[in-house]
Amino acid sequence: MSPATTPVLPKHEFVAGRLSLDFCNSLSPTRRPTLRDRIENPDEFLAWARRAGAKLEQTPAPRTLARLHRLRSALIGIFHALADQRAPWDRDLAVLNEELAEARAAERLVPEGTGFAVADSSLQVIDRFRHAIARDAGALLTGDLRRVKRCPSHDCLWLFHDDSKNLSRRWCAMDDCGTLEKVRRYRGRDS
Ligand SMILES: [Zn+2]
Repeated sequence: MSPATTPVLPKHEFVAGRLSLDFCNSLSPTRRPTLRDRIENPDEFLAWARRAGAKLEQTPAPRTLARLHRLRSALIGIFHALADQRAPWDRDLAVLNEELAEARAAERLVPEGTGFAVADSSLQVIDRFRHAIARDAGALLTGDLRRVKRCPSHDCLWLFHDDSKNLSRRWCAMDDCGTLEKVRRYRGRDS
């Protein structure tokens, strides 16, 4: 691998606490070089999905990757709109609704232990993974929206889920953006 294609991973990659938000953060909303699109091509997607814990073995076909990018773009549109206190665009919600409809259609009751569980019957791991992302986004949007936050650092703007008791989480990562901000303030005070 040439130095130009060696992936530069951010210090904290999975900080959001929720799959759909980490998925959004795989494309940085800023121009920080370490935070570029980390799932731009099939190999990058496979590596990212594995780091995210998916048991994927094959790189996605171009059409499959295009569909994942389409879902990500819709989710970014929705969650950043909410962070800006705007209503999300209908076309972004339509993409998510389409994915959710497919995810629901794949659900089957299967015996589990002494009872039953709902399982995704899709044959392809990549489809189950995409459905899981859509379901997670659906759960977030029907939950407490105050908990979906965006890192206030202008170099970052990553999304995350605040699961603290008193909604006090402010940064994507305290020992990254939180610390940088503290340093910046300290220097500001000095000058
Ligand atoms: Zn941040």
